Amino acid sequence: MADRLCQMIDRIYEYGQADKEILAALIEEICCFENNDALEYLRQLAYKTAHKYFGNRIYTRGLIECTNICRNDCLYCGIRKSNQKIERYRLDKEDILDCCEEGYALGFRTFVLQGGEDGAYTPSFVADVVKSIKENYGNCAVTLSFGEQESDTYRLWKEAGADRYLLRHETANKRHYESLHPSWMSYENRVRCLYNLKELGYQVGSGFMVGSPYQTPLHLAEDLLFLTELKPHMIGIGPFIPHKDTPFAGMASGTLKQTLVMIGLLRLMFPKALIPSTTSLGTIAPDGREQGFLYGANVVMPNLSPVAVRKKYMLYDNKICTGEESAQCRSCLDLRVKSVGFELVVDRGDYKE
Ligand code: SAH
Repeated sequence: MADRLCQMIDRIYEYGQADKEILAALIEEICCFENNDALEYLRQLAYKTAHKYFGNRIYTRGLIECTNICRNDCLYCGIRKSNQKIERYRLDKEDILDCCEEGYALGFRTFVLQGGEDGAYTPSFVADVVKSIKENYGNCAVTLSFGEQESDTYRLWKEAGADRYLLRHETANKRHYESLHPSWMSYENRVRCLYNLKELGYQVGSGFMVGSPYQTPLHLAEDLLFLTELKPHMIGIGPFIPHKDTPFAGMASGTLKQTLVMIGLLRLMFPKALIPSTTSLGTIAPDGREQGFLYGANVVMPNLSPVAVRKKYMLYDNKICTGEESAQCRSCLDLRVKSVGFELVVDRGDYKE
């Protein structure tokens, strides 16, 4: 069995792709059974691939969680509109610029502005914030992540100077997508947004949750194939973790192993992609992010949000890094990255062909 699985992994390493059925079988065999030799083989090839393109460098991005107000109602998400138990907040322009100032001093050269789909974050407001960040820090990249927007809005933000946009597709199976989202959201629109963003010249990040409710190995294989078509520059994945005040409160989390397997496969299929080791991975296991690097992840996104709001941006239960100052997060990650033989680098870390 191990030989057969290793052969499949070899082929993915060699060709960068595989059929849906092969991917699904491989994911199932490694994740659901004790195929530790195959798992270790995947890890080694993924590590080798990341090392070939990025050496021991891990890129860092400062994450600013700008608003937890959201018009959407994704069933898995703690800041969904129907959650009446959370205290809502919204950073204003000055707050965001203060985070950037602190981040810049700590060495960050990419700022990621993320939030819910908040009506007060109008196209012109966000454009104005982006312009100011670019005026103050011309050598920094600005990444936005404010969900689904009109194409004209994405264009305005691009013209204001935004470089990148993160929008996970969440799942590439339409029926599965519908089981995770309210009726007014559509898979088609999500995908349309992603292609719009690409066409506008953004460096685009997509991705999915691992172990989300009702997900099967076949869905995960579809996620990989969707990404081979989209060809994103960045791919963010992390385990699904339930939030107590959502309809998925009682559901099981995605596992560490499953997430590492998917990071490893992504690295083989997208050798040059920027793949973060996410906060959710660090939440399900104390050394989750370190393990992510060993499976080919090459980005971390420490929190730059004001400490006063961090506990309010609870997408899922027990989220880590909600108590520390930004400087503490930065130095903690520095140590974590070093502990597994990597080095945190502070340049913009653009995608390179
Ligand atoms: N509103 C933005 C940002 C969403 S939050 C958008 O739509 O893109 C960023 C990511 O957090 C989401 O894309 C989702 O994949 C992840 N997320 C949300 N709830 C989660 C949960 N319960 N467990 C794990 N990840 C979650």
